[in-house]
Amino acid sequence: MTLKIGIPRALYYHKFYPIWHTFFTELGAEVVLSQLSDKNILKQGSDATVDEFCLPIKVFFGHVNTLLKRCDLLFIPRLISTEDETYYCPKFFGLPDMVRVAFNDAAPILEPTFNVKGEGITVEETFVDLGRSILKGKRESIAAYKKAVEKQSGFQSMVNDGMIPTEAYKILFHPSASNKLPPSPPFNSPLGKGGYSGVKGGGKGGGMKIALIGHPYNIYDSFVSMNIIKKLMERNIRLMTKEMFSDDIIKEEMKKLRRPVYWASGREIVGAANHLLYSTEVDGIIFIGAFQCGPDSLLKTLIEKEAQRNSRTPLLTLSFDEHSGEAGLITRLEAFLDMLAIRKRRGIAAS
Ligand code: SF4
Repeated sequence: MTLKIGIPRALYYHKFYPIWHTFFTELGAEVVLSQLSDKNILKQGSDATVDEFCLPIKVFFGHVNTLLKRCDLLFIPRLISTEDETYYCPKFFGLPDMVRVAFNDAAPILEPTFNVKGEGITVEETFVDLGRSILKGKRESIAAYKKAVEKQSGFQSMVNDGMIPTEAYKILFHPSASNKLPPSPPFNSPLGKGGYSGVKGGGKGGGMKIALIGHPYNIYDSFVSMNIIKKLMERNIRLMTKEMFSDDIIKEEMKKLRRPVYWASGREIVGAANHLLYSTEVDGIIFIGAFQCGPDSLLKTLIEKEAQRNSRTPLLTLSFDEHSGEAGLITRLEAFLDMLAIRKRRGIAAS
């Protein structure tokens, strides 16, 4: 019988699904993915957690709940560090334990620990251990890992070329849903990034360029972000996100700080935002954070301080929680876009 492994469509699904999915399917397992986030999933997650948790974690718990009876094993990695310089937010360190407690051990969990910085165990070794825990041999697991890395690199190349990760996922995993994708117009960026717009012509944005900066699970989960990508695309705005940046640019930006940011996603967020604040890449930056997020409160302050210094690019910061309303988001977006349009008419715009 085929082993069914459940992957919640939340948190780092939005970054690492290509490597996870390919590894398991190459080893003969079936991946069961939870449905798209919605109100019902959030309700299930809120019921299973405490009020103080951030919105993305509540949504994650909702996804876990929907998978409990649909799979043999839940895949919930303990992400501590996957590179030498950074750590993940502490919530990721204890995620499998929190799930076990919240759901009374309702399903067995596959919980590899990724801790390159602390324990010096490479990502490949962790995947080999992961293969062992589903009774696969070392050689088989290494072969599956290599295929998985290829898939992840392919995904990253698509994003580096300017494709929004959600669109890249459609092409890689749901090709029938991507038939109607419009062509990606060139962004003409010195970074060599594409920037993706889903809507041709018209629209209030008039072809403006905006960077959406934040954790992938806040930006690419359309329920959490209240469909901000679609809202901007419908206004004919071309988008850039932090995943499109090369690591060299992020490293350069970190060197300018008194102390580099040591959260994995935070490093990319601050690096990308600080770079764009002083460049002509985009007309505006929108930072999206979660209301009860400790790291975000610091990241937001760092970016806002930089923006107040001498930057040339306007910044809008948004914080979402489960009570955020769509009307409030639209009002703030419209006001920001109006302000950018006025700047553009006056000749202060991205090149
Ligand atoms: S970084 Fe913030 S939003 Fe992400 S899991 Fe940690 S507390 Fe939640």
